[in-house]
Amino acid sequence: MIAPPHPTPHTPTYTHTGGTLGRQPFRALATAAPAVASAAATAAAVPVAIVEKAHGFTLQRQQYVKEYGSHVLLYKHDKTGAELISVLNSDLNKTFGVVLRTPVDDSTGIPHILEHSVLCGSRKYPIKEPFVELMKSSLNTFLNAFTYPDRTCYPVASTNTQDFYNLVDVYLDAVFHPRCVSDRRVFEQEGWHFELDSKEEPLTFKGVVFNEMKGVYSSPDSRFYRIVQQALFPDNTYRHDSGGDPEVIPDLTFEQFQQFHAKYYHPSNARFWFYGDDDPVKRLALLDAYLSEFERREVDSSVETQKLMHTPRRVTEHYAAGDGEEGEQKAYVGVSWVLSDTPLDVETELALGFLDYLMLGTPAAPLRKALNDSRLGAAVIGGGVDDDLKQPCFTLGLKGVDPADADKVEALITSKLEELAVSGFSASAIEAAVNTIEFSLRENNTGSFPRGLSLMLRAVGAWIYDRDPFTQMQWEDALSSFKSKLASGQDVFGPLIRSFLLDNRHRVTVQLLPDPALAAATEAKERARLEAVRGTMQDEQLEAVVENTSALKELQETPDPPEALACIPALQLSDIPPTITKVPTSSKALADGATLLAHDLFTNAVLYLEAAFDLRPVPSRLLPLVPLFCRSLTQMGTSSESFVELTERIGRKTGGISIYPFTSAVRGKEQPVAYIMVRGKAMSGKFGDMLDLMRDILLTARLDDRQRFTQMVAETKASMESGIISGGHSYAGKRLAAQRGLAGVLSETMGGLSYLEFIRGLAKKIETDDGWQEIKSDLEAIRSALLQRNGAIVNMTADSATLAAAEGPVSDFLSALPASSAALSSQSLTSSLLLPRTNEALCVPTQVNYVAKGANLFLDAGYELNGSAYVVEKYLGNTWLWDRVRVVGGAYGGFCSFDSHSGMFTYMSYRDPNLLDTLEAYDGSADYLRSLQLTKDELTKAIIGTMGDIDAYQLPDAKGYSALVRHMLGVTDEERQIRRDEILSTSNKDFKAFAEAIECVRGAAGRVVAVTSPEKAKAVLEERPDFWDVKKVL
Ligand SMILES: [Zn+2]
Repeated sequence: MIAPPHPTPHTPTYTHTGGTLGRQPFRALATAAPAVASAAATAAAVPVAIVEKAHGFTLQRQQYVKEYGSHVLLYKHDKTGAELISVLNSDLNKTFGVVLRTPVDDSTGIPHILEHSVLCGSRKYPIKEPFVELMKSSLNTFLNAFTYPDRTCYPVASTNTQDFYNLVDVYLDAVFHPRCVSDRRVFEQEGWHFELDSKEEPLTFKGVVFNEMKGVYSSPDSRFYRIVQQALFPDNTYRHDSGGDPEVIPDLTFEQFQQFHAKYYHPSNARFWFYGDDDPVKRLALLDAYLSEFERREVDSSVETQKLMHTPRRVTEHYAAGDGEEGEQKAYVGVSWVLSDTPLDVETELALGFLDYLMLGTPAAPLRKALNDSRLGAAVIGGGVDDDLKQPCFTLGLKGVDPADADKVEALITSKLEELAVSGFSASAIEAAVNTIEFSLRENNTGSFPRGLSLMLRAVGAWIYDRDPFTQMQWEDALSSFKSKLASGQDVFGPLIRSFLLDNRHRVTVQLLPDPALAAATEAKERARLEAVRGTMQDEQLEAVVENTSALKELQETPDPPEALACIPALQLSDIPPTITKVPTSSKALADGATLLAHDLFTNAVLYLEAAFDLRPVPSRLLPLVPLFCRSLTQMGTSSESFVELTERIGRKTGGISIYPFTSAVRGKEQPVAYIMVRGKAMSGKFGDMLDLMRDILLTARLDDRQRFTQMVAETKASMESGIISGGHSYAGKRLAAQRGLAGVLSETMGGLSYLEFIRGLAKKIETDDGWQEIKSDLEAIRSALLQRNGAIVNMTADSATLAAAEGPVSDFLSALPASSAALSSQSLTSSLLLPRTNEALCVPTQVNYVAKGANLFLDAGYELNGSAYVVEKYLGNTWLWDRVRVVGGAYGGFCSFDSHSGMFTYMSYRDPNLLDTLEAYDGSADYLRSLQLTKDELTKAIIGTMGDIDAYQLPDAKGYSALVRHMLGVTDEERQIRRDEILSTSNKDFKAFAEAIECVRGAAGRVVAVTSPEKAKAVLEERPDFWDVKKVL
């Protein structure tokens, strides 16, 4: 890991294309979901030469889209009828995508298994996994694939033109000529197969997608959203699960799989996308080379429309819960509508987006607030409008509900909607919504997700249903017409609420109830099925399965020969700039030891600002309370305004303010850094308003709203309890880091299992008046310890004129804060806070495991950091661990992470069917590294792949933020250059040196923490008594 771990700031973002239903498309890789924000900065039209006919394509339409400063061209391929949108602009971060319509008529997960499988070798790239080779060796800024309920997307991105073309070529060959349709083994590996190591052992199912989906089906949140979708769409393809139901996946045959590819993976059923500053004619040539082999064909892949029904319905189902001793498991209750069975016009879509934001967009929004205030449940689910599918839906509800209160949730939602339809929204709420949405559209800040892909997903949302993709990109006219309607005082929202929700009878109420017996029952059902199959097998059939198992493993374990790997195009080391990219930074010392950092970058008239306050003066017993303290600052109002008024002021004046703790180890020091980060953005004309807001929040925020605080505790508890089931690896990793370093202790205390335990205690404590008094005074104690300008760091990113103008107001802001009478108390964290060094099983109801093992290379192996560590870490993750844990083991993910600040090295697996086998794979890592003798080409590829991470594309705010983090951690540009030189000169010797370092993880220093089921934790103890402490979490 290059960047220090830090929490993602939660800035309110208007996500038009982001599915609020909570559905995420299935991905080839286990990665976090991209935060897809909307549109862009405007720029003047630059005249470009537009080619009307070339390489078998004919231009159909073209338009300059000012919202994105882009020429958008729609072409048709003459021979096959394939459509292409070619976007011309100056964005270096070039993107490509191919999207196929892939509706399903069962839940065997064909499109999902195919999405994984086509990336496993193709005609021109006949190796096991070209996708993995690209991960190792390309400079990509994005490389993954998504399966939606009705389509499959293959997107890539890169800022380097040659690299970009390489990625495009590998993806096109993969989609149209994959090995998986002729080689059954790929289907078995990615989909499912019977596994049997010897005739005496029990038969099992294995497969990457099979286990990925077991993980998904273990999560009650995913289960809820799946049931909602199936209940809303009983008559079309959405009633099935395109990702695959683990109980149905083994019904899929290889022949069905082949037929699906033959039918849908055809140019006549494909839509292509290019975006960025590359040559627009070359795009046509690249595509034609693939498409011209095919003949045009009618492909029936249209998605049927679900007719709206006239009678509301109810569905009750169950989810696998723990036995309820620890967190009391309760019901999920939600109400959902399909909003329309005819396409909506752009202005109606925009109006619904505004309505959604006004009702639910912030914790102060009336519908969200009503649900929170009702105390009927722990956390809001659903989250409103979802427009990812052919027909928009709306879902809202609560989780953590007493089943007896289920009807109350529905009644509350309906009555609040009735009330809003009559009363409408206040002028200040509307003004805040308009500013927030407009800011987000114009800023077009998609974070690390490429802007071109965000735009593609937006356009595809219409294009894939044969609607006009251009209108999705042109929001400016609709926005201004909508704003003038609002200004005229017309009742815009009342009729929307009535027609789309209250009067709409296509409504489903879903109740999901906890069932502590379900997890074991599901396991038993699978075992019975396997035993039944085994019972029907003759001896020779069993032998065939054993043989197949070992043949598949052997194939998986045999590396591609170097000559074959050479087919993957790669860059040269000379394509990599030898020197680091510096972020322009000026640093100025202010009074009382405060520092002002400024980064002069073009930001399109937005000022990005972080104010960081040292956490060291806060006593360690209060640290677990810090995350809730941060939230309280903006969620209880100030001395002069209510919570709602404060939220609206933030919305009117800024693009969002977020407050969160930041912690990291510092290399060579025992004490970590810890700050409270106050982060905001505003148009350059409004930065004074933003600083006023920050000052008011810090100085006068109320910290005494017991009801709001109770809700926040309940929400935190609910979200952590679902997080440990769906992402247990991060909890396991934090647990290990907290045994070996104080930075690890901080992050465990404020975000790991210890934090969850603290939150559970807090939920009880707050119920008594005395308890609440104590909490309140603790919150105030944190504020007074923290709130001092001494040692504060203010970091600004904007153009030079804005920076110069902001300097005065920043000084005023700091002088309004108290100065500490003493110098910053440098109270230290003591090593008594470290967790005891043990192996632990953290038990939850789940069908899969998350297995972590780690040690500290600085402390346990005396390792001294060398830049080559980044190269070896990445290589190990993409070869040995990928092959053993994912390909052979059948886990969705297997990787390692090295924190170069703390020295912590951790292996982790994700949605893993194995436990002890995975540990064995980890333990083989050092020997594997020692056995390597990489050729010059292989080394070059590994180095280039690492440089792609080091030089990751960043928007200006991210550049400024990274510079701030480096300042806090004392990482200088000189040191960055040394690491870069070390990376670029990585040799076989470095691989061996790193092998020696990680030997300590296999040895006495290594510890294991796994999130697993109680049955599996126990099974391990039977095999290896005293292996670990078993801790019941859920
Ligand atoms: Zn997947």
